[in-house]
This record gives sequence, structure tokens and C-alpha cells, in this order.
Amino acid sequence: ANLYHTIPGNSIAKSIRERIKNDIVTLKKSHPNFSPTLRIIQVGDRADSTTYIRMKQKAAENCSMVSKTEHLPADITEQSLLQRIKIINDDPAVDALLIQLPLPSHLNEERITEAIAPNKDVDGLTSANVGQLTKKSGKPNFLPCTPDGIMQLLKTEGVPLKGKLAVVIGRSDIVGVPISTMLRNANATVINCHSSTVNLEKLISMADVVVAACGIPNFVKGEWLKPDSVVIDVGINYIKDSTKKSGLKLVGDVDFESAKEKASLITPVPGGVGPMTVAMLMNNVYTAAKRNMEECNSIKIQPL
Ligand code: NAP
Repeated sequence: ANLYHTIPGNSIAKSIRERIKNDIVTLKKSHPNFSPTLRIIQVGDRADSTTYIRMKQKAAENCSMVSKTEHLPADITEQSLLQRIKIINDDPAVDALLIQLPLPSHLNEERITEAIAPNKDVDGLTSANVGQLTKKSGKPNFLPCTPDGIMQLLKTEGVPLKGKLAVVIGRSDIVGVPISTMLRNANATVINCHSSTVNLEKLISMADVVVAACGIPNFVKGEWLKPDSVVIDVGINYIKDSTKKSGLKLVGDVDFESAKEKASLITPVPGGVGPMTVAMLMNNVYTAAKRNMEECNSIKIQPL
């Protein structure tokens, strides 16, 4: 890959995590009880969820935060899970709560995520936070981590958004819809595409910024892109590859090899959006903990 064309998500994420860690260590000196605390709930034992949780736990520890995962059985009733959530919502020692998705099919994801206290909802998925994000002058407690990470990448790279045409592929609650909102709030003109979109290639060929979040391996081809466009690849797809020890290869939703020839900037997979998601989660936990302490002590912490 041409390094001049690649957005270094890994190193941008690392510097964000280091800044958060330094801020926390400094704050702890003046406020020894300051201890940002994240609680993760895992229902069942999906291997991919276990991997994601391990990454989040490790990042939290490296940022000098406390993170604990509560493992609940796959056959837990919705009522018992809701009770656990309520207990954590009411526990002043826990700043942030996230429920690792997807949940087993007998549980209603909508009702479960909705039960999280909006001021601990560091994934930004409750209607209170989604609604505030969508309102013109709304103030969400937290931005969802993946789109927030994408906006940070664009900001770090100095990508102009005002008046630009952004095409977003995918309309999920966690990526497609919130990134469309955030790009629009940054004064881009946004086309949010999905599986019923007609003439997708034509729309992509006009886009200054493309965000691919459709979950289809190597879907977006270089030939479709406008020359010098900025391409953000959110996809995490495993495809068969006999040259790998695991037999699997991780690819995005963009055909990187052809796209890098056309784009001026492109995120790699892995090492693009993925690490930013974890970094922005850390940022949200840190924010939650600062707010919590300010509330408990009726003090205002100066931003560092
Ligand atoms: P999702 O819930 O699987 O939804 C996929 C979206 O893509 C849907 O809105 C779907 O349209 C749309 N779509 C499917 N086929 C399409 C097509 N042929 N043309 C246009 N649109 C199409 O998506 P997600 O959860 O947002 O995940 C998307 C990808 O990002 C996955 O690969 C996922 O693993 C990855 N991801 C990465 C991170 C990260 O941190 N890097 C975080 C989250 C997700 P309909 O709505 O019409 O069905």
C-alpha cells in the first residue's frame, strides 16, 4: 500500500489513548478517588464478542481505567438482564455501561439497550442520545464510538467537509445512520444508501467522501470512485484465505487494491476505523467519569 494514501488509524488511535491516559494520571494526582470505571455485560460466549471485549478491556487498563466484564448465561431471561442493568445504572461506582451486541435472539436488543441509563450509555445507542444527536441543536451525552472515530480521522487528516458530497453505504443504528448525521452536521451534503438504493455506483462516482459500512467483503471498487476522493472503510469481514494460518483473511467493505489507486486518502483494514472505535470508547468512559465526579463533588474540572 502507498503510505501517502493510507490514513494511519492505528497511530491516531494510539495517540488519543495516550492523551486520555495522561489526563487520567494527572487528574488522579489532584483527585485520588478519580477512577474511571467501565462495566461490560457479555451474554453468552460468542467468540467474536469475546475478542472485542478483550480489546476494550486491555485498552481501558492501558488508559489507567477500571474495566470489568460481567458474563451472563446465554439463556438468561430478559427480566433478569434488565434487573442487572438497573443495578449497574444505580451503582455510583460505575461510570459507564456497555452491553456487547449482538444478544442471543430471545432477547430484545431494542428494549435491552434502551434500559441503559443515558448518562452511562458510552455506546450512544439509547434513544435519548440518538435523539439528541439528531436534533438540530441537540446535546447527546455520548457520540457512538465508530462514527465518532471516523470524524476524528477526517479531522486529523484535515479533510474538508463543508459543501462536500458524502455517500454513506449502510443505515445501521451503530454506523450508517449516525455517521450520516454527523457528516451532515459538519455541513457535508449526505446521501445515505442501503440495499434498495438504485444506481449506487453512479452516486459513489460523485462522492468526495465515501463511507462504506455494508458488511460485504471488497464491495466498493476503485473504478466507481471519483478521483482523489476520501474513502473510509468500516467493514470487518473474514474471507477464506489458504495462505493464512487461520485459513481466514480480514478484509473491509472496499476493494483496497483498486481503491487506493483512485482515492487521495483511504483507511486500511485492519488498522483504520477499528482501533478508532476503541479509542473513542475510552474517550467516552473518561468523559462519563469526569461528569460523574463533577456531579458528586459539585466541582468543575477544567478541561486539560
Ligand atoms: P449492518 O447492520 O450489517 O447493515 C448493513 C447495511 O448495509 C444495511 O443498512 C444494508 O441495507 C446495507 N447494505 C447491504 N447490502 C447493500 C448493498 N448491496 N448496497 C447498499 N447497501 C447495502 O451493518 P453494520 O452493523 O453497520 O456493519 C457494517 C460493517 O461494518 C460490517 O462489516 C461490520 O463488521 C463493520 N463494523 C465495523 C466496526 C468497526 O469498529 N470498524 C464497527 C461496527 C461495524 P438495508 O438496511 O437495506 O438492509
